Amino acid sequence: MSGETPPATDAAQGGSSSRSASSATITSQQQQAMPLSRYESQKRRDWNTFGQYLKNQTPPVSMSECNFNHVLDFLRYLDQFGKTKVHSHACVFFGQPEPPAPCTCPLRQAWGSLDALIGRLRAAYEEHGGSPETNPFGSGAIRVKKKVNFEEEEEVEYLKLDDIDRQDIKT
Ligand SMILES: [Zn+2]
Repeated sequence: MSGETPPATDAAQGGSSSRSASSATITSQQQQAMPLSRYESQKRRDWNTFGQYLKNQTPPVSMSECNFNHVLDFLRYLDQFGKTKVHSHACVFFGQPEPPAPCTCPLRQAWGSLDALIGRLRAAYEEHGGSPETNPFGSGAIRVKKKVNFEEEEEVEYLKLDDIDRQDIKT
């Protein structure tokens, strides 16, 4: 009997969903001697987010089963939180980087932040005992995804110019 204290009763206020992602309380496994650097704490947060993402799959995916397909899905999932708007050609705001009203076009992670994220997760994977040879964050597919996001950004830049040209022609 490890006399665990029962979970604190959640004060049921507001009745909103109880999906508050309980931030994993990491206990004294790590020496708490020095505070984590910004990079280290960011890396830990990314790693936890990825772990949570795998757990939420049906069926859940363990870290050892995880391959680059899961990583790609994870990156696609993250795109919705991105800040780069990619308008479809049919969108009335096509060519406008800052549309005056919301539209349903997808968002993408900026290439730069994707690059940094993958770097952190790649390091975290190996720190958690993963072998560099099977590191799903190092695979070619990830580079492809990075390239796709990068090229979309390039295209958005390009299309902005294109759109201005077309307005010129119309008027
Ligand atoms: Zn749009």
